[in-house]
Amino acid sequence: MPFKAICLMICSLCVAVDAAALEICGDLKQGELLYLKHDSSENNKNKVLIYNNLGEKIYSSDELNRTPLALHRNAEKNVNFIVYDEYGNSRKYSLQVKPTVWDIQRINGVVQSKVTPTSDADLAEIKREQGDVNRVLAATKSDKLQSDIDNNYFWNEGFILPVEGRISGHFGNQRIFNGTPKSPHSGTDIAAPEGTPVKASGSGVIVLSGKDYFFTGNMVIIDHGHQLQTIYAHLQKATVKVGDKVRQGDTIGYVGKTGRATGAHLHWGASLNNVRFRPHSLLDIKAKKCIRLEENKEDK
Ligand SMILES: [Zn+2]
Repeated sequence: MPFKAICLMICSLCVAVDAAALEICGDLKQGELLYLKHDSSENNKNKVLIYNNLGEKIYSSDELNRTPLALHRNAEKNVNFIVYDEYGNSRKYSLQVKPTVWDIQRINGVVQSKVTPTSDADLAEIKREQGDVNRVLAATKSDKLQSDIDNNYFWNEGFILPVEGRISGHFGNQRIFNGTPKSPHSGTDIAAPEGTPVKASGSGVIVLSGKDYFFTGNMVIIDHGHQLQTIYAHLQKATVKVGDKVRQGDTIGYVGKTGRATGAHLHWGASLNNVRFRPHSLLDIKAKKCIRLEENKEDK
């Protein structure tokens, strides 16, 4: 290749990299929702591919100039990702993630068969529940959804609390039921009287309205696009069905204590590309502070 051509290649790479300011917005802590903000001078043509520390692709997006990103409860200290621009140039970045201290929550008085299920019927029920939830949360419905739902809802409206009340269980807590350690809490529990209306936290499409699940009772999941879903469990009753379009604030059901619950509350969950994160970090999505990210050049 002639020297001049190589120079041009390098120069165009320099220009593209220089023009591509990239910011990360939100709290760089385990269990938080953040988003990447790309420089709009690139005509939103960035493609973002995010890899975990094992080199597996966990997220890809070529939409808009903002890309949501969820840090797993157990996210490693360094999260690496690659941004491809419209010329196919790649840039590597690393996020330094602060650890979160997770509390231990002891919950007693739970029906023992809900803590250590052994009957065939219970195990079959658990299989049905996990199958339904995994199928919905792992699906990448976002492309289709964005033609159904105005993409701007996501960023313009932001998200609201689905119900007001005391937080009776935090996201990420290590939980001990009747003395037996179980998996960490995947959402936030909000205590409220039975029958209180539960509102859609954001606009979207109902992708699950399941009945009588073993752990989560009656549960609704809304897909908001961008591979983001919100989860509403232990409902007394759901008032929506799969395929319904809802607007933020619409009633989707009522607070109850169905499934594995010791009292009336809403279990509110959030998942981005099948990574659960602290749902309250959705509430300030429009006000998150951004810092500029520097390209990770040593690694190139
Ligand atoms: Zn819960």
